[in-house]
Amino acid sequence: MNSQKTVFGTKEWSVASVNCVIGCSHNCRYCYARYNATARFHRMAPHQWPIMLVRSVDVRKKQRQYPGTVMFPTTHDITPEVMEPCVIVLRSLLEAGNTVLLVSKPHFSCIASLCWDFGKYEGQLLFRFTIGADDDRLLRYWEPGASNYQERLSSLRLAYRKGFRTSVSIEPMLDSPNIFRHVTNLSPFVTDSIWIGKLNNIRSRVRAETDEDRTAIKRIEDGQTNERIFEIYNSLKDFPLIRWKDSVKKIVGIQAMSEPGRDE
Ligand code: SF4
Repeated sequence: MNSQKTVFGTKEWSVASVNCVIGCSHNCRYCYARYNATARFHRMAPHQWPIMLVRSVDVRKKQRQYPGTVMFPTTHDITPEVMEPCVIVLRSLLEAGNTVLLVSKPHFSCIASLCWDFGKYEGQLLFRFTIGADDDRLLRYWEPGASNYQERLSSLRLAYRKGFRTSVSIEPMLDSPNIFRHVTNLSPFVTDSIWIGKLNNIRSRVRAETDEDRTAIKRIEDGQTNERIFEIYNSLKDFPLIRWKDSVKKIVGIQAMSEPGRDE
């Protein structure tokens, strides 16, 4: 029997997660943090989730050095309204000597300011922009408060031009029929990796209240059947930048990571 533990979710990318805000104005329909705060643990009503409340105690905290990559943030995003506290936390993480994986559906103004402020930390900072599709209709439905495709692409190009390490998360994959085009268009601006993963637990996390919801959920499900995942895997497996999340690995038979934070 194989007793080795496997890691999944944020642990595939980092040994620790840091956050300083409750709620997220991007209000993604599939968000696990939103699901946990509202439907699972009833800490707030769904209409409260988009209101971003800064946790001052976490902003003031002096960060320590972690024994591996730290992911920031994981349960909110970096938006113009919470830029200031996020900069304080990011600075504290970098000054402590950490390697930081900054994950965001990027706002161009925020990324421009981060590139300017943290240029001297370019070796410690890896940007990972979540861009699940290049179709704004899909992005607007699934991530109603987040930036559009062009703004995310411009942010990626800027970080790349400024000499930072760049990567993309296509997790969740929101437009599987066009994934090859999507990867091809992003890859010239990616130095590190492009991660591909399924939308997990869609039936429990996403509320199907309208016909539009049911159609959108079905489109995702049809796009991530085992058969379709094999097709995507075969079409992209030789692309050097591509990395597969646990949700894909277990279908195509790749050994899952056994240690957190390996990011590979
Ligand atoms: S950007 Fe991230 S934290 Fe914010 S709602 Fe979307 S999935 Fe959740």
